[in-house]
Amino acid sequence: MFGTLSDRLSGILSGLTRRGSLTEEDVNAALREVRRALLEADVALEVVRSFTDKVRERAVGAEVLKSVTPGQQVIKIVNDVLIETLGGEGEGINFDAVPPVPVLMVGLQGSGKTTSTAKIAKRLTERHKKKVLMASLDTRRPAAMEQLAILGSQVGVQTLPIVAGQSAVQIARRAVEAARLGGFDVVMLDTAGRVTLDDTLMAEVAEVKAATSPHEVLLVADALTGQDAVNTARAFDARVGLTGIVLTRMDGDSRGGAALSMRAVTGKPIKLVGIGEKVDELDEFHPSRVANRILG
Ligand code: GDP
Repeated sequence: MFGTLSDRLSGILSGLTRRGSLTEEDVNAALREVRRALLEADVALEVVRSFTDKVRERAVGAEVLKSVTPGQQVIKIVNDVLIETLGGEGEGINFDAVPPVPVLMVGLQGSGKTTSTAKIAKRLTERHKKKVLMASLDTRRPAAMEQLAILGSQVGVQTLPIVAGQSAVQIARRAVEAARLGGFDVVMLDTAGRVTLDDTLMAEVAEVKAATSPHEVLLVADALTGQDAVNTARAFDARVGLTGIVLTRMDGDSRGGAALSMRAVTGKPIKLVGIGEKVDELDEFHPSRVANRILG
């Protein structure tokens, strides 16, 4: 009967005509709908729990303002907690370090890692006037190395020449050295992905990290994979240590659950979002827009 969460909350609470403060009973009825909507948006169960606890804590006993209905009051509290949980607005790439600043891109195969590497390099070049070098460390998939080279020529960003037979760590060291000698500001390292999380992948990424001391370690994750994206984020953060997340395919019909869960589980900011296949379809992260998707 009611479509969006906002509508459903207004519906449930429309019977409350008395003024004063919200009772536990009123809030519990609303929280059942919040819980359902978050689960429908593919938010991880543990995050749903802590989220509804936070809303309950803030809502029970809250005075209903004269200017709004109880429904609107609860919706506002849910919206505020959503935005707080999603974190800060517009946190971009941090390249505040001695150049060349290494940026490590990690994630599963197919998440959009190589495309996002090129998108970010393009943005750093055009908007921030940085001289960027990109290197693919995917020694097992020559096609991935070629893909980065093709994207590089498309966006006007140099890629490290491919030398056959080198390990990921050797390529990474060579990239940092070439960036230093060539006067580059940023060196972006596109690590190999795998179809699923595996230990060899993690060990390789950890080794590259140790060899290059990156200033940013960005996990690229597909928003449409929901709970899997959360598990990936947790695993990479535990093993490698992330500084931020790039969430791709936000142009799809994801309800934004992955964004909320990944941020809540890892505490790491979502720095940028992919909004299409084209090289300029990259956007800053706007928590209020994701809150709107969830709340409707
Ligand atoms: P990788 O294996 O992680 O390096 O993934 P790729 O960068 O090769 O991307 C896999 C596919 O996803 C490609 O067809 C990309 O064009 C597409 N892709 C990447 N980012 C986005 C995005 O934000 N939105 C959409 N719709 N497609 C994307």
